[in-house]
Amino acid sequence: MISERETMKAAIYPGSFDPITYGHLDIIKRASAVFDRLYVGVLNNSAKTALFSIDERVNMIKDVTSDLDNVQVEAFDGLTLQYALDRDVSVLIRGLRAVSDFEYELQIAQTNRKFSDDKVDTMFFITSLEYAYLSSSVVREMASYGRDISRCVPDSVAARIYEKYGID
Ligand code: ADP
Repeated sequence: MISERETMKAAIYPGSFDPITYGHLDIIKRASAVFDRLYVGVLNNSAKTALFSIDERVNMIKDVTSDLDNVQVEAFDGLTLQYALDRDVSVLIRGLRAVSDFEYELQIAQTNRKFSDDKVDTMFFITSLEYAYLSSSVVREMASYGRDISRCVPDSVAARIYEKYGID
């Protein structure tokens, strides 16, 4: 059970955000309207090679969420579940695009609930139709070939991606 004290108070939206897209931003805006405080947790996964460093990813998200007062962006290492327990937050937020997301997310959500003795639950936001196809990897792929990604990411983020690929 989600504890009384924490109900609807704070949530964590964890992810790689390599880089943040309009799909992520949509979830951040919707979740921040429901919860008093939303932590956007950027996973520092040393096993995965990212296009952007952890500091770059955190700073890009801070830039594009600066108008949302109850959103706090921070990096974290290790298990998402441990991060939630350390922050005393009992709700994780994830976005669902397709059935394939669901299959993967179902198992993780159940695992986190079991391993936290029901302390940490997961809530899902269904993607907005216009962003259903969008992922960080689609954006990276298109940008690397110089395609227009203005419909996928905010301008400040697009500029940083093109810079990484040496495209002006
Ligand atoms: P991860 O590596 O943890 O999956 P991502 O940065 O790819 O991290 O995604 C973080 C979360 O955002 C996931 O729950 C993912 O399903 C969700 N998400 C990603 N893109 C979209 C989108 N276009 N619409 C809705 N949710 C999305």
